Amino acid sequence: MQPLFIGSHLAADFLNTAFEPYGEHVEVIGDGKALLEWVQAASVMDAEQSARFARKLGVKGLDAAAAEVRKLREWARAWLSRWRTAPGRDYSAELRHLNELLEGLNVRHEVTRTKEGLERLTHFEIESADEMLAVLASAIGDLVTEEDPGLLKSCSGDGCTLWFLDRTKAHRRMFCSAAGCGNRAKVAAFRERQRDQ
Ligand SMILES: [Zn+2]
Repeated sequence: MQPLFIGSHLAADFLNTAFEPYGEHVEVIGDGKALLEWVQAASVMDAEQSARFARKLGVKGLDAAAAEVRKLREWARAWLSRWRTAPGRDYSAELRHLNELLEGLNVRHEVTRTKEGLERLTHFEIESADEMLAVLASAIGDLVTEEDPGLLKSCSGDGCTLWFLDRTKAHRRMFCSAAGCGNRAKVAAFRERQRDQ
């Protein structure tokens, strides 16, 4: 299964590693190997980092990390579903859990020269399952601190369970993709109109 990157935010893309097109459950991070493929596709790790991580954890360790990552994802899905509709509620238990995960963050900063001048780059070091969970928790932290809760949306497509952050100017994005659910909705509306005539 090709991972989907329609979320417009790493946290939303992370939620989209499990989805149900037409009622059938798809798991993108089914095992350690699949986890490595996804973190590379999501640019969380480059090929070299990922190879080092795989050597360090071994097959069993990677599978265990994938299970932890799936658990984090479903926890995040439950929390973010509530957060986006009721952002003002008391989420101290959720924040405590998030902060525990963030303790695993291993960050290296580098100041480098770019065309625009000097810039600080942030590199996430990921050499353990905890460090990987921390990077994903950090993406969730970015979402809840920097983004408008109302703009985290689930696709309006019939039966579609995909999530995205609506970054359009008018904030009217309704579908995971214009070609997929957007098109199906258009066809359905067209048929409806024809039937009414
Ligand atoms: Zn959709």
